[in-house]
Amino acid sequence: MLRFGRQTPIHRGTSRLVEIKNLRAIVEGRTSRVCADVDGDPLWFESGDAPLQPAPEAFGCAALPVAVEHHADVVLDAPLDAVWNTHIQAIQETWRQWWRIRRARIYPRAEHKQPFAKAKGVALCFSSGVDSFYSLLRGGYAFDHLVFVQGYDVKLSDTARAQAAERSLREVAAVVGAKAVMLRTNLREHPTFRTADWERTHGGALAALGHLLGRTIGILVISASYPYYLDTPWGSHWKIDPLWSSSQVEIAHAGAWLWRKEKLEALAGEDLVRQHLRVCWQSGGSEVNCGFCEKCVRTMLILALAGQLEHFPIFGGSAPLAERINRLPSLVPTYFPNYEQFFRESKDPQVAEALCGLLRRSRATVPGLRGRTCRLAQRFQGLIRRRGCEGRAVDTHPERIGIPAVEPAKVA
Ligand SMILES: [Zn+2]
Repeated sequence: MLRFGRQTPIHRGTSRLVEIKNLRAIVEGRTSRVCADVDGDPLWFESGDAPLQPAPEAFGCAALPVAVEHHADVVLDAPLDAVWNTHIQAIQETWRQWWRIRRARIYPRAEHKQPFAKAKGVALCFSSGVDSFYSLLRGGYAFDHLVFVQGYDVKLSDTARAQAAERSLREVAAVVGAKAVMLRTNLREHPTFRTADWERTHGGALAALGHLLGRTIGILVISASYPYYLDTPWGSHWKIDPLWSSSQVEIAHAGAWLWRKEKLEALAGEDLVRQHLRVCWQSGGSEVNCGFCEKCVRTMLILALAGQLEHFPIFGGSAPLAERINRLPSLVPTYFPNYEQFFRESKDPQVAEALCGLLRRSRATVPGLRGRTCRLAQRFQGLIRRRGCEGRAVDTHPERIGIPAVEPAKVA
């Protein structure tokens, strides 16, 4: 845990530390395990698919964003790679501009270590989602390793979901001729890490994998969550990810030229994507995607508008799309523009009607939007008429149609 109130000579003026000690590698049968004591509690990674090395940069990548968030410095009982160490200030300068947070200092046992030879492997962090599929099939890399971690988005205790993810990982890897690498870690359950904001810290955690696999791979690719033009502050970002590189392992950020909707449209004809796309983390494990959460429905809408939904048997349940939309709870305002666009583009009267109702009830939950958007509502009304929905139980009353007065922003 974080050592509140503790001071050492090298941390004069600083009261909090994250201490990383006793880095070690353990081989148990076919399992390679790397461990370090972080604030006295073991933080471990393990894999039965590839040898892991106890790279201090891996623990530094994972710990630095957490230390920054908790106003702590990092003490690492090992020498650090000079290239990795050089980038630390640049990473934190970007974080400071985004989040106004204090920079952390890293105190390694020694400044530099001798660089290792760079391995030839090229790996992709692969979740079977749209971004990672786009990097795999359109990213321009010849991947020979696909990497998935149980303990990040899938909890260590969630065996059913982890098995489903592993099955998909191995099947996709076999098709593309890559080696599947499944890892497990207790990082998000560790006392120092479990309270951290995963949206800010996940980029460092992903980069850590590259350094752990440094005996096998020379490049680890992380797929973009947001396109360049949005420049959204996020844990994994095109400005940050490459700066986690060392002289041994390059961390690359791929796929930021397109937005997720555009990627999905580009991939919709791929059989591999049709069989294995995973966008949902709410399914129980037996289904790849629950088919009813907001993210599932949003993905299904994109596919439906592209005329491809019938080719994706991976969404749970047999309910029509309009019924799934009707079952959604209210949207947060950030999503309003996306669903407005879906409504404008929808050629299915029942789907359009369901979208209209979803926007209406969502808007009703936002103070200040009601009553200010009659002009927009009338425009909506015109669209409904042109689409031939009128007279089919579509509510077109301006006061009851939810038209958000927010600037368009893509959230897909
Ligand atoms: Zn879902």
